[in-house]
Amino acid sequence: MTNLKNYMLLLTLVILPTLTFAQKNPVAEVTRLITPAEVEANLTFLASDEMRGRDTGSPEIDIAANYIAALYKIYGLKTAPGLSNYFQPVALENAHPAKAGELSLGGDVFKFKDDFILFEGENQEWKGEFVYVGYGSLEELKQANVKGKMVIALAGTKDSGGNPMAIFSAAGGKFQDAKNEGAAGLIEIFASPQVPWPALVNYFANNITMRVKTNSSGGSPHVWLKDSDAEGLKKIKDGSLAGSLKIEGITTEAVPSKNVIGMIEGTDAKLKSEFLVVSAHYDHVGVQKNAQPGKDSIFNGARDNAIGVVGLLATAKYLAQYPPKRSVLFIALTGEEKGLLGSKYYAENPIVPLNKTVFNFNCDGAGYNDVTLATVIGMERTTAEADLTKACSAFGIKAIVDPVPEQNLFERSDNYNFAVKGVPAITFAPGTTAFDEELLKYYHQPADEVSSLDFNYLIKYFRAYVYANVLLANNPSAPVWKAGDKFEAEAKKLYGK
Ligand SMILES: [Zn+2]
Repeated sequence: MTNLKNYMLLLTLVILPTLTFAQKNPVAEVTRLITPAEVEANLTFLASDEMRGRDTGSPEIDIAANYIAALYKIYGLKTAPGLSNYFQPVALENAHPAKAGELSLGGDVFKFKDDFILFEGENQEWKGEFVYVGYGSLEELKQANVKGKMVIALAGTKDSGGNPMAIFSAAGGKFQDAKNEGAAGLIEIFASPQVPWPALVNYFANNITMRVKTNSSGGSPHVWLKDSDAEGLKKIKDGSLAGSLKIEGITTEAVPSKNVIGMIEGTDAKLKSEFLVVSAHYDHVGVQKNAQPGKDSIFNGARDNAIGVVGLLATAKYLAQYPPKRSVLFIALTGEEKGLLGSKYYAENPIVPLNKTVFNFNCDGAGYNDVTLATVIGMERTTAEADLTKACSAFGIKAIVDPVPEQNLFERSDNYNFAVKGVPAITFAPGTTAFDEELLKYYHQPADEVSSLDFNYLIKYFRAYVYANVLLANNPSAPVWKAGDKFEAEAKKLYGK
């Protein structure tokens, strides 16, 4: 029988030095625990052909969800408060396009499809005041007092005008801003010679779209209206006009889906009530039969976003063994490729109150073209910058800011839905210096396979992400938006300071 005293002595000799070592050398411990074999195995499983591109609503994405949940269990993550397992059901639906509609403005009547299409919204019958706001920047919206009114704006932005890229990348943010200001909806006047009206109708008004399930009461409409010489369109530019909007014939069917959520409780009596959210989307775009006739039709999504999920899993593994001061919530998100749906749902139905959520560090990217870097979308916008720079340089890579602001990447990943609520939220992406040929070779292509990945680079990338989360979760002060940021006001509302 073992003598208890000897046993205690053994514990002191063996266990304590390990713990002390770990606290002093997280870089060495991250290196020891996050192994090339494990990250390669996880990437290979998630991006295999058998997963058929992890399309939201497919049977295969549920296999991915189960795999992530199984690893949470092995690592020792807890289930989050209010959940009986690692799954948060996310109610999505497929919406079949509207069949008819009418927009009347200052005596002019515009016809559905001939003159306008519904980009987002519900069946409805609305009557009231329309108000013109130029390009609809946040300043213009605030100046115009849009509460309860239907906002009419030029598509695109003040800076880049009406080129198609500016129109499409600005649309989501403008609609969100208009809703935040209390508008009844947003109508954008579409004038872009590069995109003929029939092409727009064909793409946006004839297809089934996936979305978060809405209440039958109907959400605000986002409409694109063809530019023309109509009197109503001329007159509205003087300020405001009365009118109405009718949309009919939208039908829906449910698409069951889920976010995979686990947690680690913080060790500090005070900081444990604050949560760091580590997130990554685990869906991709599935199989597209005729994308390249006769060729591979499976969009494996190794870069987009098996890489992000592996970053999340590596962080879960490490922090479960070395719990930080703050609590950490891990969210593998569904439906990102369908329009940031899993994060949109989570932000409306948070498991941990958002005012207890101090930061969201999302892991996602389009790919990489520079293996000496990590590209951090939004890095310069919060006070997390110092921890991020330190974490990357510890593993021999350099953290850089968004090199392609015109791509609007900040609003094209799940961090955005946290930011909209005021939570400081940024995205860690593999080294990207431009949306160039090297990137586009794989971005949303069947070629985005594990066999084309550079594991020598990725192991550094994963370890840097893990270490950054270690620093963020232990930093006595939580990161905040830098002064003057677009989301600073929302953060003040959320946190009450
Ligand atoms: Zn994508």
